[in-house]
Amino acid sequence: MSAEADLRELICRLAASMFERGLTGGSTGNISARTEDGGLLVSPTGTSFGRLDPGRLSRFDASGQLIDGDAPTKEMPLHSAFYDTRSTAGAVVHLHSCHSVALSMMTDADEDNFLPPLTPYGIMKLGRVKLLPFFLPGDPAMGDAVRGLAGKRSAVMLANHGPVVAGRDIEAACNAVEELEDTARLAMMTRGMNPRGLTPDQVQAVVTKFDVEWDA
Ligand SMILES: [Zn+2]
Repeated sequence: MSAEADLRELICRLAASMFERGLTGGSTGNISARTEDGGLLVSPTGTSFGRLDPGRLSRFDASGQLIDGDAPTKEMPLHSAFYDTRSTAGAVVHLHSCHSVALSMMTDADEDNFLPPLTPYGIMKLGRVKLLPFFLPGDPAMGDAVRGLAGKRSAVMLANHGPVVAGRDIEAACNAVEELEDTARLAMMTRGMNPRGLTPDQVQAVVTKFDVEWDA
């Protein structure tokens, strides 16, 4: 099989795995990845992560023109905003994942560092996650808000909506968005229980050891 055929299969397999584990339901969520020729493969509009068809993914060329496949997700501006501002982005995943949405509704949520420092992996895989405000679905201002970060964040949380995460490749992006949801779940599970998170020194040690983008 060609590299592109393998990538199509991988996108659909990872999306189905997330769907089966309840990380995004119904026809929510969207996913995209760079192809070797600088183009993109994108989940089509209205599709379910549980049933993506490798042969019907939207395919864009390197100039951003839709070449074939079904029409892309309506949340395409979010994906483009990451690719245009982060040269290292090889894939972008967006979920409507329950615990991260719940955490975004907490009135004391930290806009500049959405995930509390509970485990090293949330820090290593995501860096500092930016909490963006609520936008109406399909509002192009969502993409503008990501562009406003000038590529300094690999992960954002759309309040009352869901996370959007970029990674160097499709597996890295999926691993990172799963870590975001797991950390949000831990935060919600332990909320009000006075949990012992990582200390600022421990956070800094993780950032230094694993060369995390943290202070941007
Ligand atoms: Zn969405």
